[in-house]
Amino acid sequence: MPSDIMTDLFRLDEDWTVEQREVIAQVRRYVDDAVLPCIGAHHNDETFPEEIIAGLRELSIFESIADQSLAPTTYGLVNRELERGSSTLRSIVSVQGALVMGAIQQFGSDEQRSEWLPRLGRLEAWGCFALTEPNFGSNPAGMETRAEVTPGGYRISGAKSWITNGVRADLAVVWAKLDDTVRGFLVETDRPGFSASAIKGKWSFRSSETAQLFLDDVEVPASALLPGATSLSSALKCLAGARYTIAWGAVGAARACLEETIAYLKERPQFNNQPLASHQLIQYKLAWMATEIVGMELIARRLGELRAQGPLDPAQIALAKMNNCRKALEVARTCRELLGANGIHNEYHIGRRMLDLETVLTYEGTEHIHALTIGAALTGIKAFG
Ligand SMILES: Cc1cc2nc3c(=O)[nH]c(=O)nc-3n(C[C@H](O)[C@H](O)[C@H](O)COP(=O)(O)OP(=O)(O)OC[C@H]3O[C@@H](n4cnc5c(N)ncnc54)[C@H](O)[C@@H]3O)c2cc1C
Repeated sequence: MPSDIMTDLFRLDEDWTVEQREVIAQVRRYVDDAVLPCIGAHHNDETFPEEIIAGLRELSIFESIADQSLAPTTYGLVNRELERGSSTLRSIVSVQGALVMGAIQQFGSDEQRSEWLPRLGRLEAWGCFALTEPNFGSNPAGMETRAEVTPGGYRISGAKSWITNGVRADLAVVWAKLDDTVRGFLVETDRPGFSASAIKGKWSFRSSETAQLFLDDVEVPASALLPGATSLSSALKCLAGARYTIAWGAVGAARACLEETIAYLKERPQFNNQPLASHQLIQYKLAWMATEIVGMELIARRLGELRAQGPLDPAQIALAKMNNCRKALEVARTCRELLGANGIHNEYHIGRRMLDLETVLTYEGTEHIHALTIGAALTGIKAFG
């Protein structure tokens, strides 16, 4: 990854504290040394990058999430730097951290917190967050998964789809309707009746494990219920935390695309032996991308400031997630184009990033759904649900 390319024209990185700079440098080193050398091959082979997990554990990100010691903006910067490596890597952190640990932190009992957070924090246990179903994605309120009370606790039946880390998870946060109210359950994946099947054949998020989950009369004890998760809005609160990490991560993906592209354009001559970077139309596109990336980063920063002040409004998260994912994808597509034929080859990271950003645009709420959330805040009229 080129380090001498200067794209931070607004000198945003100069504002960071000493601690934040250290965090950025630490994650960047890990991405450069451990992630970028192997992630392209895993994308090609549709395999999970096992060898980067030890380094991820050493970064102690999940322990910081467990003890809530990272300030919102620093946490955002971690995600920005991780997605400079890969959207699938940042996703591992978002699912394990914001969705699974976040659900237990916000809605779990003291016993659930002390049983699971340390193990999840040390990556001794993997978690997944099971909300989406084959028939209900954008509208999770329609979910068909059901829980019923039994003498010993609950019995859960249903199917979940597109679940990140679903194959390797030791613990699934399963959302199911109990008497028509959505509740959250901590389901150990070795319980009889629970099975997971990998979704293969993806052309995006190929180095991420995505699964279908089947719950066939899975019996769980009464202590599996997340006591504080009393409606669908609890699941949506967990998603809000993950969308925060996505808004920041998209900045890292876009920056990485732009830096790789500028380095390429400076090296490749076309017409009168002049580098592509010297041509006017190309510089226009570079200027457009640099400007959009500054905008994305300013949105992410402001979101961090707002988060430090208190809970974020759904429309604020929706705006940041929608804008930054769409813009990152447009940047990646533009970079792909500027690399010409080489832009579709796996010698460069851009094609992989572009494909992964298609998932990032869709999951954790599609662009339409976020637009509708913003529309409802602007007009007072809810156009969905
Ligand atoms: C790689 C990957 C990993 C994922 N990981 C997880 C995970 O860990 N856990 C989890 O629970 N889910 C996960 N998801 C699922 C993801 O959150 C859903 O795919 C997403 O919410 C969209 O649902 P859907 O795919 O069913 O699309 P649909 O809901 O079928 O939507 C299809 C299209 O219709 C549009 N649409 C829907 N309703 C409206 C409306 N009212 N007005 C206008 N347009 C509308 C959508 O915007 C979209 O463009 C993952 C998805 C992917 C691809």
